[in-house]
Amino acid sequence: MSQAVWTKDRWEEFGVKSEVVPYEVYINYPLDHRLALLKDGEVSFEATLEEDVLEEDPTTGLEDRVPVFHGYSASGNVTAQYVYCNYGTFTDFENLLAAGIELEGKIALVRYGGVFRGLKVKRAQELGMVGTIIYTDPGDDGLVTEVNGYKPYPEGPARNPSSVQRGSVQYLSQFPGDPTTPGYASKPGVPRLPANESTPSIPSLPLSYAEAIPLLQALNGHGPNASSFPARWHKGGLEHKNVSYNIGPSPPSVTINLMNLQNYTITPLWNTIGIINGSISDEVIVLGNHRDAWIAGGAGDPNSGSVALLELIRSFGIALSRGWKPQRTIVFASWDGEEYGLVGSTEWVEDYLPWLKDSTVAYLNVDVGTRGTRFNCNAAPLLSSAIYEVTKSIKSPNQTVEGSTVYDLWDKHIGTMGSGSDFTAFQDFAGIPSADFGFGKTGPLDPIYHYHSNYDSYAWMVKYGDPSFEYHVTAAKVWSLLAASLSEKAVIPFNASDYAISLDRYLDSVKHMANASKIAHEKDVVHAFTDLDRAIEHLQRAAQKFETRAGDLAIQATAAEGKYNPAATNKLFADIRAVNTQYKVLERAFLYPKGLDGRSWFKHVVFAPGKWTGYAGDTFPGLVEAIQAGDKKALHRWAGIIEGIVWRAAGVLS
Ligand SMILES: [Zn+2]
Repeated sequence: MSQAVWTKDRWEEFGVKSEVVPYEVYINYPLDHRLALLKDGEVSFEATLEEDVLEEDPTTGLEDRVPVFHGYSASGNVTAQYVYCNYGTFTDFENLLAAGIELEGKIALVRYGGVFRGLKVKRAQELGMVGTIIYTDPGDDGLVTEVNGYKPYPEGPARNPSSVQRGSVQYLSQFPGDPTTPGYASKPGVPRLPANESTPSIPSLPLSYAEAIPLLQALNGHGPNASSFPARWHKGGLEHKNVSYNIGPSPPSVTINLMNLQNYTITPLWNTIGIINGSISDEVIVLGNHRDAWIAGGAGDPNSGSVALLELIRSFGIALSRGWKPQRTIVFASWDGEEYGLVGSTEWVEDYLPWLKDSTVAYLNVDVGTRGTRFNCNAAPLLSSAIYEVTKSIKSPNQTVEGSTVYDLWDKHIGTMGSGSDFTAFQDFAGIPSADFGFGKTGPLDPIYHYHSNYDSYAWMVKYGDPSFEYHVTAAKVWSLLAASLSEKAVIPFNASDYAISLDRYLDSVKHMANASKIAHEKDVVHAFTDLDRAIEHLQRAAQKFETRAGDLAIQATAAEGKYNPAATNKLFADIRAVNTQYKVLERAFLYPKGLDGRSWFKHVVFAPGKWTGYAGDTFPGLVEAIQAGDKKALHRWAGIIEGIVWRAAGVLS
């Protein structure tokens, strides 16, 4: 709570009216844990489950540092043989089953990467496994590894062998937020459902690679070798440590004792919410970043984003003090509980859903503002052109080529909205076009970012992440200018054509997927896609017309400035108001009230986290899942639902 109040006090100091908004949520705190390798009943290795305390990095030695554990992990104490399950993706487990590896009753030893960690535990549990250990393999660190001659942190940019990735094991693609209150806000006294819809019932622990080595070594010579599995299994990074990546299972005499004891409780959580009232009260831009961290440091995640938000509010405060009043209302949010499963933002969106749906134009999220030098961005297609425009006007800290802008040095790729941060409830549940960006995407030679580890620290940031803090400043600039552009332009700088064109592209990728499966060779399936194609074409024409009208109005609005003609201007602004309302509600047209099959919290028919990936966005998830399941009936149903929705969206624009 002290941090929420501190944040509120700073924002108010900057001149922005703010309040702390609490919820009561179901959450776990670690009590105890153990991980030991047993041979013939004797302990042959006992993991410390601690990250090394480094003299060079003061926050690694704090008394109140956070133990290694998983958010929403189940309590349990199991002793069992174990199996190396690669990344623990759905396909990895399919490979194991196909090879006849016995999984039931065993502990899964999986590596981080590929999919959201909670979904690894989910699949292991579904297959009758009794526990999950998730470790970080340096084989996923690209070129910056000890094997390639790089020294580990703090001496060098490679991964510190003792680093552990904490994190939530909630089933993020099922639904985010408080597991006991899906779809409604966690207020005192509300009814609560059992948590197992979105959280595991088998225990799990995160592990460093240093402490995974003895477990992996004990599998040497047991079961098939990963090299006999598909290519995805060939990324071992510990061969030099005498690990041969055998799959196991371990022999009956070699077992793991995995104990995880969690205290589950219902406890308050605090969002800080600030507001600058604009001239138009029912056109709102929301900006948010989470405040909670997995570690006492958290210089990258989330503090690099949190300072960008502070700096942005400070600068907007200065503008306010000079008499500025924004055109549209701007709301600021410092979310709590993001790391457990987007809890603060999800409960808030569920709480204010009618108002948000009625008034919100866009949501702009920054999680990790800076952990490297590469700009990366995911966004709803409506926002793409505004993002390109803004990044063109901001100088990059990298001036190897003089005059380079953020835009110039960016690969220009805007990813689709999946999940993994606080935009999820806005985009996927409320139908509010959202963007998420920051500097970070690591290239093969970037220093290793110790995600959710004690080494995501100030000491790391000043040595490797952003020594001059120029990228921090640049992140704040991108965010500020994008917010200003969305709140100030007479005509909202959206582009509906970009949306319609993207739908075409998304459908193409669905067709490719269908082609690769048996389902596509049926005539009526081809027919279903043809109808959808026609609807999208119709939307494209409607969007094009609409954009011409919006563009004309934007030009007139610019021309009208300074020479105010009440009669002409009133008509002009009524027209602009109408266009802006159409822009505002367009994304909402893509919501399907019944939601996706088997995960009805997700209402958007175009964007959702992949059911078995969690982070990465599936486009047209209803179709994708029908194809994956080989379910022709579902495919027809979803093609029909989406077709109706696309026609409705075209109706919004006419
Ligand atoms: Zn974060």
